[in-house]
Amino acid sequence: MLNLVLFGPPGAGKGTQSAKLIEKYQLIHISTGDMFRMHISNDTELGKRVKQILADGMLVPDSITIDMLEEEVKKNPAAKGFIFDGFPRTVAQAEALDVYLESNGQQINGVVQLDVTQDEIKTRIAERQKVSGRADDGADKLLTRIDEYFSKTIHVLPYYEAQNKVTKVNGIGNIEEIFTNVCTAIDSL
Ligand code: ADP
Repeated sequence: MLNLVLFGPPGAGKGTQSAKLIEKYQLIHISTGDMFRMHISNDTELGKRVKQILADGMLVPDSITIDMLEEEVKKNPAAKGFIFDGFPRTVAQAEALDVYLESNGQQINGVVQLDVTQDEIKTRIAERQKVSGRADDGADKLLTRIDEYFSKTIHVLPYYEAQNKVTKVNGIGNIEEIFTNVCTAIDSL
């Protein structure tokens, strides 16, 4: 199995690169952000619990997120591997994922870090909001998301660096070029 974490701040291009990667490597894409948005639009119990949290740009509590993720992995027993996009976002989530994968004889094979500057993120998300209309893409909520990233999510990197699993890829430039560099990183795992 090939289990990858695509890591980067909001707007780094994780979703865009994931879509291309699943095609090339035949992996299952798990985006916790997409899953939460699906629950919200279907008005499920979980959706009701997380709606305001997402709208505010805050992180959903670990227990809810981890349970949802494990359920999704379980639904795909025949998968060749997974791309985790937007997960783990806290060290507790990273630890829970390791424990879960190990209990199934699996592991994270590599972490690709998409490196982008804060200025680039702000420009991209402002553009994206015109199309997506995502409430959390508004300027004030975006600042909260960037804060959450630098206060909680950034610590996930040293967690994986200690396991020698991180490859940094420049996330600025043309989508195809970035994709080539991401693939090179994956192929040398
Ligand atoms: P982004 O563009 O910020 O990468 P996502 O679509 O990945 O957006 O996530 C949107 C929102 O969903 C986050 O701001 C957060 O509220 C929630 N969320 C997604 N993944 C997680 C996670 N692993 N832990 C906690 N909250 C999450």
